[in-house]
Amino acid sequence: AERAALASWSGPGRTADGRPVKLLANVADAASARAATSEPVTGIGLFRTELSFLDRETEPSVDEQAAIYADVLEPYAGDGRHVVVRTLDAGSDKPVAFASHPDEENPALGVRGLRLAFADPGLLHRQLDAIAIAAERTGTECWVMAPMVATVAEARDFGVAVHERGLKAGVMVEVPSAALLAHKVLEEVDFLSIGTNDLTQYTMAADRMASDLAHLTDPWQPAVLQLVAIAAEAGRRADKPVGVCGEAAADPLLACVLVGLGITSLSMAAAAVRPVGARVGGVTLGRCEEMAEAALAAEDPASAREAARVLLP
Ligand code: PEP
Ligand code: MG
Repeated sequence: AERAALASWSGPGRTADGRPVKLLANVADAASARAATSEPVTGIGLFRTELSFLDRETEPSVDEQAAIYADVLEPYAGDGRHVVVRTLDAGSDKPVAFASHPDEENPALGVRGLRLAFADPGLLHRQLDAIAIAAERTGTECWVMAPMVATVAEARDFGVAVHERGLKAGVMVEVPSAALLAHKVLEEVDFLSIGTNDLTQYTMAADRMASDLAHLTDPWQPAVLQLVAIAAEAGRRADKPVGVCGEAAADPLLACVLVGLGITSLSMAAAAVRPVGARVGGVTLGRCEEMAEAALAAEDPASAREAARVLLP
């Protein structure tokens, strides 16, 4: 019966009492973007562009990049949908030959993500040109965000470059500094998207790839939830969207907590959309807020989970 209820749940994303929660897909390429259209999503919340280039020795031309991005954008034209394109998140766990910084002692804390643009701004500007061409060609509403932003100045520079091309600009909240200064970051850009995978890694100082540290790299860590709460509150005050696009958004129970913290969109692997949508749809906003408060008050992930679970209706 539960499986049938899931299969028949068809959106749109909202709490039991009608608070809208945008449900979006995380995609890697045109095939996964097209596949996600059969789920009840209103767009793509994370297109990881670097995954198109893992096997490339040299930087693709602007024209070639534009064609790749247009294939992802094209199925989402119109109907109030949008696609969030993330600029290259090269380095550390996602090495890209033409954009990686060689021989770093500690690549997760090195020149990765937006930091690549410090040394080579042309790389970012060519990618933004290609994204703008793809948006224009497809007529799809396209938002652009940068990974690994740590300072307000980075958000400002990125926002200027994206706005110059007529697109909406955002930054990922993956570094605790960006969460703590979310109110100032939001003066520079139009939206935030919290990458809980990296935010957890950097908050807990625990490598997300290290399986023996899984008890630390758990997005239910109350310290991580505190940072999510700070970013969401900044979004509420600025009246700008703050979403989550890390794995946390794919956990139906945690999704309720995130909504209770004030998160306005959840982006996840397409397969998770129905379970998450159905779960959030069964809980009122007020109850989500109670679940969030209980999880924040816990001292570890297990008690946070349990505190939220017992509040399910
Ligand atoms: C994240 O860090 O949570 C995120 C969504 O980005 P990625 O997993 O690609 O690093
Ligand atoms: Mg990340």
